[in-house]
Amino acid sequence: MNKKEAAGRIARLRKTINHHRYLYHVLDRQEISDAALDSLKHELKKLEDQYPDLITPDSPTQRVGGEALKQFKKVTHHVPMISLEDVFSAEEFEQWMARTQKLLPHNTLLYFAELKIDGFAISLIYRRGLFVLGSTRGNGKIGEEVTQNLKTIEAIPLRLVMPEQRDIERIGLSYAAVRQAAEEGEFEIRGEVYLSKKEFLAINHEREKEGLPLYANPRNTAAGSIRQLDPRIAAGRNLSFLAYDVVTDVGQEFHSQEHMLAQLLGFRTDGVAEQCADAKAVEAFHKKISDHREKLPYQIDGVVVNVDSNALFARLGVAGKAPRGAVAFKFPPMQATTRVRDIQVQVGRTGILTPVAILDPVAIGGATVSRSTLHNLDEIRRLDVRIGDTVIVERSGDVIPKVIAVIASLRPRDAKEFHMPRKCPVDGSPVVRKDGEVYYRCSNPQCGAQEEGRIEHFTAKSAMDIKGLGPKIIQTFIDSNLIRDPADLYDLTIGDIKPLERFAEKSAENIIAAIDRSRRDVELWRFINALGIMHVGEETAVGLEEHFKTAEAIMAATDEQLREIPDIGPKVAESITKWFAQEKNRKLFARLLRAIHLKVLQPRVAASQSLHGKTFVVTGTLENFSREEAKEAIRARGGNVAESVSARTSYVVVGSDPGSKYAKAQTLHIPIVSEKEFKKMLEKA
Ligand SMILES: [Zn+2]
Repeated sequence: MNKKEAAGRIARLRKTINHHRYLYHVLDRQEISDAALDSLKHELKKLEDQYPDLITPDSPTQRVGGEALKQFKKVTHHVPMISLEDVFSAEEFEQWMARTQKLLPHNTLLYFAELKIDGFAISLIYRRGLFVLGSTRGNGKIGEEVTQNLKTIEAIPLRLVMPEQRDIERIGLSYAAVRQAAEEGEFEIRGEVYLSKKEFLAINHEREKEGLPLYANPRNTAAGSIRQLDPRIAAGRNLSFLAYDVVTDVGQEFHSQEHMLAQLLGFRTDGVAEQCADAKAVEAFHKKISDHREKLPYQIDGVVVNVDSNALFARLGVAGKAPRGAVAFKFPPMQATTRVRDIQVQVGRTGILTPVAILDPVAIGGATVSRSTLHNLDEIRRLDVRIGDTVIVERSGDVIPKVIAVIASLRPRDAKEFHMPRKCPVDGSPVVRKDGEVYYRCSNPQCGAQEEGRIEHFTAKSAMDIKGLGPKIIQTFIDSNLIRDPADLYDLTIGDIKPLERFAEKSAENIIAAIDRSRRDVELWRFINALGIMHVGEETAVGLEEHFKTAEAIMAATDEQLREIPDIGPKVAESITKWFAQEKNRKLFARLLRAIHLKVLQPRVAASQSLHGKTFVVTGTLENFSREEAKEAIRARGGNVAESVSARTSYVVVGSDPGSKYAKAQTLHIPIVSEKEFKKMLEKA
């Protein structure tokens, strides 16, 4: 994306984000999920990082929160309630860590990692130990006073607990200072109001019974409850609260001390936060929490990491509106936005044509997704998805990633509508749709099955040799609309196949690794054999490799040139040229050549070409060679190997239990060579 394109994208992203922010923060309404909105913001942030001179003060990235509703009294936060920069991967997290370390080269930094509750941030002020003022974050500097609503939350103490002297000293603080603040001065505590998963489900259950629209998530419901003018609504919601910050200075040096102090003053904290020495420790914490998040009673969306030392945190300062000393290390969102590159038609094994969105690869829930089924034409019309659109893709549980919505405001002018093709993209047969059926089908009932056979042939041992990719898995891939031709295999990602029922995470990784291995150092003959050109098997493919040396030369070869190869007669030559004459095949060929790396042909190891010009057929079982070794030995000396005996065969090498080839050799008076004689021929070289 060049700067001009970036400027256009940034402008449209801002407008879209601002629209949804307004709905969400001011009107307490939600049209797209938090994850989707986060994903848009993340894209905007990335673009602005790339072109910092395009940042304007009104950009959503420059904003802390939403505007205060007019009906509430305003509260000024003497210490601003900051929002955090988000990172979504270990790589981004390590970049953040490296930046903090670089700014403080002479300090050993300790970090404090805690849960990021998916709730509603608030500030609580206690004077002389009594809860007197509660407020929302608002825009970070000015929030709304919601004291009455917060008082209904039983997890918030109305009076601070005065800790024991020995407990205060145990956490390294001065008892006199804490006591002074708690009994005579002021304490400001910050944390998150949230709704437990159980309460959230119960509320929605009630609403369902009453025929009311359901709430989208616990966070919105908590925020909506706190920002009600009538405190009885909040009271009925069983909201809860976790503290994570003590703003008042009582001599604390570390953020971790504040967690402990908050506990001592009578608040609940997450209880699992950990001090971490390095990125590895933080990442281990992140993984541990991520693995167990399902079991937590409340929803969390990541881990917050602070530079634990308050002095160093302060020295790091603020970049834009976010502090440099803290970061929200989010869990990968299960929704993301991406663009539809193309809509292709997949022919299933039963001949049903399924449209599939080919996406700009995007990480969802930790795995990259590059395609998503669109089911059928009706679904495409319902979503109104067009090629070029920005869409929201969702991965949930064991379900294949799906496009759930189009962000129409980001539609480019040249977005293209999809039309079902009239001819089958596989075999060119007419496409039909029976009355009352949702699906379009190829009129050739064999079509899908043929395509499946071709892919199976492609992955076979004597072809691309993709281990672990058997017929059943290929069927699953076709049925799930993940592949429609062999080249599609090389576009698959772990995220594409992970959700399939039969794959545990490990095997999805194994399959992608096997596909990846098959790309490297491909012998040309294997690749040619894999194409499944009629009459071109392993031996012919080897002949083609030896004669033409490159894939391009084979594609360009004329009938005449092809027939220079022993074993290639007019029928085979014609089959090859016909195959390459078809545009569909040429496209497939080109895509495959881009996906794989062919081995550069080396001269054969054995310098001697003693068998040059001789054609061998090997039959029966040899004692000292496998069939493959024998063939390899012949080829290494410049000889050719054929599968069947013909007048052009120079020798037939016969082992024990020879088959019909032996008889044919006798009939045609082809010299027959025993294994012993064969060895001698090889040694002569
Ligand atoms: Zn077809």
